[in-house]
Amino acid sequence: MPKRFWERISLAAKYRILFGAAVLLIIAAALSVPWKVTETLIYEQPFREAQRIADDYFRLVLARPADGPAPADFHARGVSLLPEEKRVKPQFVRLSPDLTDPQALASRTDLDPFLRRSLRVFVSRPGRDFWYTIRREQPVPRFWYAQAVRVRRNCLSCHSESGSATPFRENQLVGLIAVDLPADRLDQQLWLNRLWLIAAGLLAGILAVLVFYIITHRFILRPIHELREVAARVGEGDLTVRSTLRTGDEFEQLSDSLNQMLERLRISQEKLEQANKALDAKLDEMAQTNIALYEANRVKSEFLANVSHELRTPLTSIIGFAELLRENPELESDTRTARYAENILISGRILLEIINDLLDLAKIEAGKVELNPETADVRDLCVTLLDTMRPMADEKQLQVEFAAAPNLPTVFTDRGKLRQVLYNLLSNAIKFTPKGGRIGLRIERDGPEHIRIEVRDTGPGIPPEHRETIFEKFRQIDSSATRTHRGAGLGLAIARELVLMLGGQIGVESEPGRGSTFWIRLPLRIDHAAAARPAPEVSATTR
Ligand code: ADP
Repeated sequence: MPKRFWERISLAAKYRILFGAAVLLIIAAALSVPWKVTETLIYEQPFREAQRIADDYFRLVLARPADGPAPADFHARGVSLLPEEKRVKPQFVRLSPDLTDPQALASRTDLDPFLRRSLRVFVSRPGRDFWYTIRREQPVPRFWYAQAVRVRRNCLSCHSESGSATPFRENQLVGLIAVDLPADRLDQQLWLNRLWLIAAGLLAGILAVLVFYIITHRFILRPIHELREVAARVGEGDLTVRSTLRTGDEFEQLSDSLNQMLERLRISQEKLEQANKALDAKLDEMAQTNIALYEANRVKSEFLANVSHELRTPLTSIIGFAELLRENPELESDTRTARYAENILISGRILLEIINDLLDLAKIEAGKVELNPETADVRDLCVTLLDTMRPMADEKQLQVEFAAAPNLPTVFTDRGKLRQVLYNLLSNAIKFTPKGGRIGLRIERDGPEHIRIEVRDTGPGIPPEHRETIFEKFRQIDSSATRTHRGAGLGLAIARELVLMLGGQIGVESEPGRGSTFWIRLPLRIDHAAAARPAPEVSATTR
């Protein structure tokens, strides 16, 4: 039976097939004994009759009377003593001396085959004295009985070696008495009995299967079906269903356990639903807060942009007038007024720088900054920028290094924004590097799709805990009032926002006390969709 069939059929079918096979085997084994015994019982009666006839024949015809001398013709006389009415005449077959060997007997085809078989049995088994069977070679079956005739002691008185032409030995097989009885009804009786046996077996088998079916259905399959139905309804999501099995056995215990499990499951589900509802409410609340925050942020950015704009106009005038004042030839002698004018100019410019930064950031956050991508030669852009900033570096006697990898490709990006990012990084490098230090700019390829620009300095470096926070707005390492460097903490925040817009990444590597390297990684071709992603792309490592 293929394995798949066995796996496919139900438990009930498996039980029935196995039990059916077992019942068949048991009944067949149980009936095999009466099957054999029936045969013996049926043959018992003809066997007894044939044995009696053969015994009579032996006693009257062959055996010498024990008392008195044997008359010379007692064998012949014996025949006449046989009952007249006997219809079945026994047949005495004398065994000639050459037939004492079973091999020789087998080759004697002239003898009746049953006679031959009987003789073979007696020759090969000296302890065996009778043999019977049913002869079916004729139209009407016959019961064939053969009885061995062996030499007895009193036979020797006539047939001794000295006194007879055919001398005998005691116990020697000298022939057999064959009795042949009609057996036409024996077969019928035998098969009728066997039919009854088969019928009884079948009835027992059917009854056993029926009883088994009722028992398994009532006590095993019905509870299993009921439990399966409960499980199926639970599978469909109904946790209120319960098993009502009351069998008083292990199935009832199983059903109770299932019910307890379902109850616990229902309680957990209820709790989960409540937690979900609470979570939904919280989410709603957060969404509302988010909207409010977004709105507040937008208003703040607008306010910042407006205020910065409003501040910039008068400040530009102040700076303009201060420049005029400083260059006024009449003030050449009045050094004090000239110094005041210079102070106004410096403070005004610092203020303008801060306002410009605020305005830029506010614009970026309000989403009002647009990208203007174009083909740019990054090397050229850097050289020009360094030239512009060289006076600031010279003022602090800083050594400026520049390195660019050969065959750099042109980049399709927003030049203005890239320039602003590099300006912010370079101005920080100049600002934070002590007099006589070194700053550097390096450009190189970074894989097939990117370039990497590094701004190095030999400034104080950045402690690990500040390497990410310095990219947030208004965040400075030293934010005390006594700090030596000016600035509002906006340069890196603006740089980060712009790099994100350009689809790149920004980060810093630093060794505190030795210097910092700020780097940006830009795609060769700006990808608007990637550039719009909101997650900050900042990384910090220690050099
Ligand atoms: P700021 O206007 O203060 O320079 P930035 O956003 O440009 O604002 O920088 C934030 C802070 O990061 C600075 O205040 C400074 O503490 C630190 N920082 C930036 N660049 C460097 C640098 N090259 N070396 C050391 N510290 C730096």
